[in-house]
Amino acid sequence: MSALITVEDLKKYFGVRGSFTKKVRAVDGVSFSIARGETLGVVGESGCGKTTLGKTVLRLYEPTSGRIYFDGKDVTKLRGDELKEFRRNTQMVFQDPHTSLNPRLTIAETLLEPLKEHGVDVGDAEAYLVKQLETVGLSAEHLYRYPHELSGGQKQRVAILRAILLKPKFVVLDEPTSSLDVSVQAQILELLKSLQKSHNLTYMFISHDIAVVKYMSDRMAVMYLGKIAELGDSDSVFTNPLHPYSSALISSVPVPDPRTARSRARVKPRGEPPSPINPPSGCRFHPRCPHVMSVCRAREPPLAEVDSKRQVACWLYIKQ
Ligand code: SF4
Repeated sequence: MSALITVEDLKKYFGVRGSFTKKVRAVDGVSFSIARGETLGVVGESGCGKTTLGKTVLRLYEPTSGRIYFDGKDVTKLRGDELKEFRRNTQMVFQDPHTSLNPRLTIAETLLEPLKEHGVDVGDAEAYLVKQLETVGLSAEHLYRYPHELSGGQKQRVAILRAILLKPKFVVLDEPTSSLDVSVQAQILELLKSLQKSHNLTYMFISHDIAVVKYMSDRMAVMYLGKIAELGDSDSVFTNPLHPYSSALISSVPVPDPRTARSRARVKPRGEPPSPINPPSGCRFHPRCPHVMSVCRAREPPLAEVDSKRQVACWLYIKQ
């Protein structure tokens, strides 16, 4: 499969109020590619840079440095019509449908907005929209309602439909089910899977929940403090994590067997993640890592290939 998205050494730093020199290194040298039709999961604790990564790949944030290639074109250099075409081909679904939908627009107006913006003529708009609503499990009765008249799950269905109406190739899904009731989450995940098949979509699926990421993704990138700690086939990372931070994330997933839960709990990281303004020297995970060695404090481990399906940034797996 050829890559639809290739990201090379991407960085996104934000300034800190009241300081000319301090920067928040939200994304700090990230490289990966996503094949057409593939789902790459991005998982990590809150503040690890995963949402900033999604927004920077879509150029909703301008990158500080690095390259992003979409369909072979350098996204960082796109201007004018080419940038507009990129905007049409790439979309984002946000975590909270309550805030991502305009409360003053009906669902029909919400859905027509991007079509008008891109000059798409759909003929009989009402008939077209009813047909589209049915593809996400809604119907004509929802067309002239306002967002506050819909449930959380229905609103997220509208947000998903709005994202795919322009027939994009690539969609970033940023915690698309975290604000929903547990009973609705599985339905939305199933909908996303079925739309991916029917619309030939490529996804970046962002979540703090590694079990959901495993369910949704072909491969996953585990992020820690602006960097990728481990990247590989989702099943392999979940069942046999190599990076101590991946192990810690998986240990936090509830498991029915109390003996397994006990043994996993031992690898939980100590303390809270350090600040991305002043990350630790060497391996950024070293203050919390149960396997820390002297080299970890001195030198930053590169993201190195361990086998054909796995890259890990940890000195335990890199020959020195
Ligand atoms: Fe732990 Fe060292 Fe590996 Fe970092 S490089 S995760 S500190 S063992």
